[in-house]
Amino acid sequence: MQIPVHWALVGASTIADQFMIAAIRAQGGVIAVVVSGDAQRASDFAQKNAIARHATDLDAVLADPAIDAVYISSTNEKHLPQALAAARAGKHVLCEKPLALSADDAQQMIAVCAEQGVVLGTNHHLRCAATHRALREQLRAGGIGKPLFARVFHAVSLPPQLRGWRVEQPEAGGGVILDISVHDVDTLRYILDDEPVEVSAMTAAGSMGSAGLADGVMSIIRFRQGVLAQLHDAFTVPFAPTGLELHGTQGSLFARDVMTQRPVGEIVLRSADGERVIEVEHASLYDYAVQRFHAAIAGEGTPAATGQDGYRSLLAALALAQSAQSGAHVTVDSRFGK
Ligand code: NDP
Repeated sequence: MQIPVHWALVGASTIADQFMIAAIRAQGGVIAVVVSGDAQRASDFAQKNAIARHATDLDAVLADPAIDAVYISSTNEKHLPQALAAARAGKHVLCEKPLALSADDAQQMIAVCAEQGVVLGTNHHLRCAATHRALREQLRAGGIGKPLFARVFHAVSLPPQLRGWRVEQPEAGGGVILDISVHDVDTLRYILDDEPVEVSAMTAAGSMGSAGLADGVMSIIRFRQGVLAQLHDAFTVPFAPTGLELHGTQGSLFARDVMTQRPVGEIVLRSADGERVIEVEHASLYDYAVQRFHAAIAGEGTPAATGQDGYRSLLAALALAQSAQSGAHVTVDSRFGK
């Protein structure tokens, strides 16, 4: 019988509250403590979620040998220092996306985790969805022939309680590209098993984003093997469905309602044989992510999205931001690509 993984939550966050606490517990993990920058928030969060301990001193928590792993879901600018501290204390690190705010920071996280011999995972949940896993399998099996184009529809309405730093604080890594586009990039990297090489993007701002933060973006990405992808991401669109389409020489896959945290959505394959529903067995995306992370700690396989995945998806997202700012196509640095 395996010993349960003992977790410290770093960040009294919405994502921990809504999804990750349940996922960790569903996989047999023990949430030993929540760490927050604010004592009252830590206490309220611990009480609401039946967590035995709460703290504001991360270093003291990291000094506890009973803690095996940390789940970092603080605002984005804190990911780097918290991940480095955890790794140096010998704790495995599951970090929220975007992994960091710069490529150098993300690389540093990967390097320190490797030096310390701890697992680093990035919580890109979408690749854990049964739908996206099925899309990847369809491509691998040649279901649409040679893939040519992808379209991602991820324009949503950001709920009022999630606005805050996402639409007000550039220094916290706000804005639609680091919040949503980075997920699209990761999902396409996973489905296509390929890496972005060149991007172009234009942003919208002003109806929700402030301080120069984009609240909408349309992007084009060229992947190394030739696929062109188009992304539409926004915080400001209340009534559009989400989806992902893949178009190839022998068929097209239409995945509806799949750019979501919930285990829902449907896939249809259209080809010369007509239309066929691709059956999927839906299950919690976050449970799968934690299951893979626990297994990686036990030496079995890798996290669903590794530190390298977080790094590469961030790199392309940063290139999108650079393109939007400069008005130019931007080449994605491929030093660490496949
Ligand atoms: P929240 O805004 O809910 O929490 C982020 C931080 O804000 C918390 O760590 C907390 O700081 C602080 N905070 C929380 N509530 C309050 C409050 N009422 N007043 C003041 N400060 C508060 O963020 P999210 O949960 O939406 O996102 C956290 C991270 O997770 C981000 O990196 C985000 O990109 C990522 N994310 C990932 C998702 C996924 O599915 N993979 C989905 C949503 C977010 P403190 O640590 O000090 O308690």
